[in-house]
Amino acid sequence: MSRCLAYRAIDHVILERGEVAHTWRTERWDSLRLLTPNWQSRLPGFGYKGDDPDGYRTIPETIAFIEDYARAISAPVRSHTTVTSVRRDDAGYLVRTDRGDWHCATVVLASGACNIARVPAFANQVPPSITCLTAQQYRNPRQLADGGVLVAGASASGTQIACEIARAGRAVTLAVGEHIRAPRVYRGKDLQWWMDAAGVLDERYDQVDDVARARRVPSLQLAGTPDRSTLDLNVLTELGVTLVDRFVGLVDGKAQFAGSLRNMCALSDLKMGRLLETIDAWARDHDFDGTVEPPHRLPPTKVADDPPLIMDLARNNIRTIIWCTGYRPDYTWLETPVLDRKGMIRHDGGITASPGLYLMGAPFLRRRKSTLIDGAGDDARELSAHLASYIGAGLSRLSALEHAR
Ligand SMILES: Cc1cc2nc3c(=O)[nH]c(=O)nc-3n(C[C@H](O)[C@H](O)[C@H](O)COP(=O)(O)OP(=O)(O)OC[C@H]3O[C@@H](n4cnc5c(N)ncnc54)[C@H](O)[C@@H]3O)c2cc1C
Repeated sequence: MSRCLAYRAIDHVILERGEVAHTWRTERWDSLRLLTPNWQSRLPGFGYKGDDPDGYRTIPETIAFIEDYARAISAPVRSHTTVTSVRRDDAGYLVRTDRGDWHCATVVLASGACNIARVPAFANQVPPSITCLTAQQYRNPRQLADGGVLVAGASASGTQIACEIARAGRAVTLAVGEHIRAPRVYRGKDLQWWMDAAGVLDERYDQVDDVARARRVPSLQLAGTPDRSTLDLNVLTELGVTLVDRFVGLVDGKAQFAGSLRNMCALSDLKMGRLLETIDAWARDHDFDGTVEPPHRLPPTKVADDPPLIMDLARNNIRTIIWCTGYRPDYTWLETPVLDRKGMIRHDGGITASPGLYLMGAPFLRRRKSTLIDGAGDDARELSAHLASYIGAGLSRLSALEHAR
């Protein structure tokens, strides 16, 4: 957004509570690599120039990438400046920070979609002998107490963390909720390449039937590893991970699981099948058949005949629970009435009902790819155009008033 505002000669400042790329420095586990290939993190005027376009950035590489971009566009970042409130005033907005106040005509909220780990309410009933961590707090298997680990959530974070802990020789149980299975490489190309080329990631928020639902869809079960291998529940089962159903309650130290693991996995296989059918149709229509590998499907997800519905955590030697049950934004500092009853910002593709207040970086903000680094560019181009005309309209009103005087 800063690059797009600068392009339009709109004077602006970026207020950041930490350093550039703060979330990548402080909220990710050590071994994480981006699940999007290097070529895919395209930012306005800035693309990948290395010799490994199909590789996946490590965390230090991701931090360096974002730092390089901030430097390349001379982003006017005020680091170590925490915004403590944003409210309307006569001239636009009053933005309070721990380093003084700002008055501005417009504000773009780009404080991230994943500030707080979502943890179910019953987590406060976990016995004190068990350590609870979130995906934001987990760093590596060495940090964990001896004994078994229960990972709750089987999307990208949960499957990657469960895999790493199982590979370290630990007993892992994975509680599987709604998830979307995906092959890393399909017909010889990265799944993200296909989704990008076939326009799946460009699908717009005003084209989908149920955008509220689309904004809640979990991340694809993908991992970025040097060997470009697929990470799904079958791989985890082979590694010795025990699959249980969605973790729905806890009574007297006994975990309770929903009874729909088989359905959940069948649904996930079905959704993967639909995505691959879309890709196959696009490949056929664009004369890729014959130049890439033929269509293929993964075997169905294997589920035990009777997965347990109740697990005594102490008897099963569970010493750690890692909640990988999603994230939510933190807008506790926002004093402008644009939040719905769940604390999420009401917006139309990033344009809020409060004139001059915009949102960036939320899931499916304007397109499916808005969730990714790669989606920020197109969203910023469109929102900065709206913002520029909003400021322009304000200026024309002002000059008309002065003229009338
Ligand atoms: C575990 C995980 C893995 C991911 N993997 C990928 C991936 O492989 N590929 C991909 O493209 N995307 C990935 N994403 C999504 C990616 O993080 C987002 O697309 C991207 O970070 C969005 O950037 P952002 O600047 O909008 O938000 P953020 O990166 O969250 O940045 C928001 C910034 O706002 C600052 N801030 C927050 N509140 C305040 C305040 N009150 N005052 C001042 N500053 C504040 C924060 O410190 C932070 O620096 C992943 C996300 C997670 C959680």
